[in-house]
Amino acid sequence: MAAQEKVWLRNYPTETKANLDYPEQPLTAFLEKSAADFPNREAIHFMGKRIRYRELLSDVYRMAHALKEMGVQKGERVSIMLANCPQAVISYYAVLFLGGIVVQTNPMYKERELEHQLKDSGTETIICLDLVYNQVAKIKDKTSLKRVIVTGIQDYLPFPKNILYSLKLKKDGMNVAIPNQPGIYSFSSILKKALADPFESQVTSMEEIALLQYTGGTTGLAKGAMLTHRNTVVNVMQCSSWVYRAEYGGEKVLGMVPFFHVYGMTVVMNYGIYHAATLILLPKFDVEGALKVITKEKPTLFPGAPTMYVGLINHPKIAKYDLSSIEACISGSAPLPLVVQEKFEALTGGRLVEGYGLTECSPVTHANPIWEKRKNGTIGIPWPDTECRIMNPSTGKEQSPGESGLLQIRGPQVMKGYWNMEEETKKVIQDGWLNTGDIAKMDEDGYFYILDREKDMIIAGGFNIYPREVEEVLYDHPDIQEAAVIGVPDPYRGETVKACIVFKPNREITEEELNKYCREKLANYKVPRIYEFREELPKSTVGKVLRRVLAEEARQNASQE
Ligand code: AMP
Repeated sequence: MAAQEKVWLRNYPTETKANLDYPEQPLTAFLEKSAADFPNREAIHFMGKRIRYRELLSDVYRMAHALKEMGVQKGERVSIMLANCPQAVISYYAVLFLGGIVVQTNPMYKERELEHQLKDSGTETIICLDLVYNQVAKIKDKTSLKRVIVTGIQDYLPFPKNILYSLKLKKDGMNVAIPNQPGIYSFSSILKKALADPFESQVTSMEEIALLQYTGGTTGLAKGAMLTHRNTVVNVMQCSSWVYRAEYGGEKVLGMVPFFHVYGMTVVMNYGIYHAATLILLPKFDVEGALKVITKEKPTLFPGAPTMYVGLINHPKIAKYDLSSIEACISGSAPLPLVVQEKFEALTGGRLVEGYGLTECSPVTHANPIWEKRKNGTIGIPWPDTECRIMNPSTGKEQSPGESGLLQIRGPQVMKGYWNMEEETKKVIQDGWLNTGDIAKMDEDGYFYILDREKDMIIAGGFNIYPREVEEVLYDHPDIQEAAVIGVPDPYRGETVKACIVFKPNREITEEELNKYCREKLANYKVPRIYEFREELPKSTVGKVLRRVLAEEARQNASQE
């Protein structure tokens, strides 16, 4: 990466003028520019298949023509239910060219979740993996779905891996027969038949909705955050100003965070395309596979979630692999334990910094500067043009530096609102300020600390305990791989602290030893009263530990006692 002028450290909190120049053009213009500037550069590397920028753009044009031909109109919702693979990138950009609204759908959704999302969004077209076709077929008639476009991960693999992969799927009993019926299309055949002429973008205003990004799945009924073309472009450019040393047309980004999640979509896929980078795609997170790909393909940027870095550093044969190509990583979606950060940096020689964001902000709002002035243990400083304030939840007044409260954000990356949910929107956005639901504080230097989620805070015997504080201590223990702390009902203290722990391979300690360790490091009221040793922790698709699931399990166990 070439050193360039630093462009964006800004003052908190008074400056509101835009620091960056945001173009009045949708994301698709970035893809066209990268393809014009670097037609022969590899845009995608996927399990041995290499796709150049000019080929990618041509496939996107074809898919946009094909969708138009089958009747998909501007403003229509099109669900993309794919893992990270070339078809996901092609479909996403094709829908945007057409002025359609991408509905990001998690391929791990079960029928109930899928049905809710498709009904709520009024989706008429879905592009899905063959592996999930049966799920889609079961709920199709209960929704407004008219067209199902099916593709297999193996469709884009080069010979002979294609055959090997199909054999493996067959062996696993996952080879799905797709019926030949009206309304059901094969991705590859419609692509083959379609025109490859340039497709003119149908987007006429940056305020049009580009996607519905469903959120709240871990806290309640999923709601579609409406992200506009402006929101998505702004967040990509904010990201780019943050990785300011990255070379246009010279980087390789590891695409392990799923693109159906807003974080993978913006920070990997859209940022990578804006920067004419090579996207190295992995259809799912697998430690061994990731280590092999990193060693061979030599990515320079690796946005990830803490569990991914935890998995890599604890691999028993890590010394066999070469991670030295990695120069910069941003960890988001959950707290990054300091010990993980230190170990990962020692292994790669690169920088791993913590950032923060949420679906409603497209998603990133904060990050630590990568090369200078970072502060470990914080989420860093706000991104350009992002205003933040900390509010006292009881008085509704703004807090001073050092005081904790609810973090609120105002900026050009904040969503338009929730799809068809005006009341819900009014609850979270007032005067342009979005309430994140996270408890945070800012220090005198303008760095932010996420203390916890508003609802995750444990109140034991009148004391407030933030699970994260206790988890940091547990992560520091040499025998612990992962830890999650929750509050469970207690007849005397109201709630009490429970720690769910996963040991590193072949390591174990007793409850007594662990208790002694915690007592040395934490105030007595924060020390877990209950320990549970587990094989693994329940996680979301980006590896965020689902404390809610653990709390629910604890509640059920208590009611059975
Ligand atoms: P999502 O909308 O699924 O991206 O989830 C957003 C939520 O993830 C935020 O509101 C935070 O609660 C949490 N989160 C994201 N980044 C961090 C971080 N660095 N530290 C702690 N929590 C985080």
